[in-house]
Amino acid sequence: MKWNQTEALVLATRPLGEADRLVTLLTWSKGKTSAVARGARKTKSKLAAGVDLFTRAYISLYRGKSLYTITQVEVKEKFDRFQLDPLMYSYASYFAELMYRFLVEEEQHPEMYRLLLEGWRALEYTEDYQLLARSYELKMLYFNGYSPRREECVICSRNLKPAWFSINLGGVVCNSCAGGSGEYLSVLPGSVSLAGHLEQTPFTGLNRIKASLPQKQELRKITVPFLSYHLELGKCRSLHYIEEWEKNIRVE
Ligand SMILES: [Zn+2]
Repeated sequence: MKWNQTEALVLATRPLGEADRLVTLLTWSKGKTSAVARGARKTKSKLAAGVDLFTRAYISLYRGKSLYTITQVEVKEKFDRFQLDPLMYSYASYFAELMYRFLVEEEQHPEMYRLLLEGWRALEYTEDYQLLARSYELKMLYFNGYSPRREECVICSRNLKPAWFSINLGGVVCNSCAGGSGEYLSVLPGSVSLAGHLEQTPFTGLNRIKASLPQKQELRKITVPFLSYHLELGKCRSLHYIEEWEKNIRVE
């Protein structure tokens, strides 16, 4: 039997058996890890508060034959505001789902831990969820060595004004290489440098960055499939909820 103590973020949780919870944690010391919180669905459980979704807690675990069991929790930070705002909740779920899909069990990844924690914190003060989400996606790519190429054309390597973008090739394509083939995404002037700012600016500085709605829509069409393709994530379910909520907001 092996004991561990670590700080952790609760990525996902689901009922298990009569009274337990199966919790997926992003831990500081072991990366993504699944653990059972025994009795966490009972009203008097001491573990319950620490294994809620969107919690940062100090957690004690021991390793059984196949799974970790959570023995103690000390809550460090709760993101209760997410429960009050369905759109904020959807973005928080999206940030967690990206980590859930990307990370391999028990591989330490301090950058991803910090990114998720700072992303959740930023949701509470951001003025623009869309820009924050694009910044989150671009930072995730950057920390894993998949930053989209922005300076030179990915085909001819010349430093020409970017007009097109290739997801598979990983960056901008110049007009002459694109040659009207229709297989690339068009990019508006400014969108490529906007992506650079969103990648490099800390979340705390994002409220100073302004972008037009078409630029934001265009960036979304680039970063979401880029992330999915290069980090092999598949389609995120929480993205669907975000789209539904944003549609409703536009209609009102
Ligand atoms: Zn070119």
